[in-house]
Amino acid sequence: MSTHTPLSGKTAIITGSNSGIGLGVAHELAKAGANIVLNSFTDRDEDHQLAKDMAKEHGVEVRYIKADMSKSDDCRALIETAGACDILVNNAGIQHVAPIDDFPVEKWNAILAINLSSAFHTTAAALPMMRKAGWGRVINIASAHGLTASPYKSAYVAAKHGIVGLTKVTALETAEEPITCNAVCPGYVLTPLVEAQIPDTMKQYNMDRDTVIREVLLDRQPSKQFATVEELGGTCVFLASDYAKQITGTTISVDGGWTAL
Ligand code: NAD
Repeated sequence: MSTHTPLSGKTAIITGSNSGIGLGVAHELAKAGANIVLNSFTDRDEDHQLAKDMAKEHGVEVRYIKADMSKSDDCRALIETAGACDILVNNAGIQHVAPIDDFPVEKWNAILAINLSSAFHTTAAALPMMRKAGWGRVINIASAHGLTASPYKSAYVAAKHGIVGLTKVTALETAEEPITCNAVCPGYVLTPLVEAQIPDTMKQYNMDRDTVIREVLLDRQPSKQFATVEELGGTCVFLASDYAKQITGTTISVDGGWTAL
């Protein structure tokens, strides 16, 4: 259990947090003392067990709330059911890779709903609670693809550029209040979302797994390393801390130099 708990007494809601970056962010915020609301669209025993284990590990309250971030009513219900929201991390995201003229419309709609519109709905529901509490942090997990583009990722790139825009508007609308809104832009992190792309990329380029990692994924990152979910979580802890209270409306890249190229 952590002894340095700057976020003690705060409630953090992290959308899409039963795996990958969301789960890593939840652990780091819990370590910093925040009570946690985990979320996904599933409702498995493992999801609730995850919450119990995290509570035990960090000595904070952890709840799991099922809500489908592709549905506006669920997004708003997540915040209302939680009952408090000091720190909102909009993290839920999916990916699909295909050329524009062969991109399934239902995938386009799902990516825009989950990766972008959900953040609009949760933020709209959370801001009144933050105003009432007199303190708030909105942290949007965007991407290096919110600042740059890649072919075949039209919906993902559009949604991530959109969330960077939404971040700036949220920051401007709350600028005179003790509320900040920023976007974190990861490069590649080896999570289930990226793992799922590797087999197709292996087939597409006739490469083995190691070569895909080295020559396709890490080729974009001058550091030649993946960021970790703990590093992403640490960035969120910083943005939630009082050190960052004048940081609003900006993007923080955690991408090993990708967007410096
Ligand atoms: P992941 O697949 O491990 O996690 C995605 C999470 O979203 C899961 O918890 C999943 O349950 C949840 N989710 C999916 N659909 C949902 C829905 N309809 N409602 C609620 N939750 C839903 O992937 P990840 O890599 O951890 O991705 C997390 C975020 O980080 C995404 O927004 C992604 O775009 C972003 N990101 C990831 C990388 C990377 O390299 N992994 C890079 C840049 C940005």
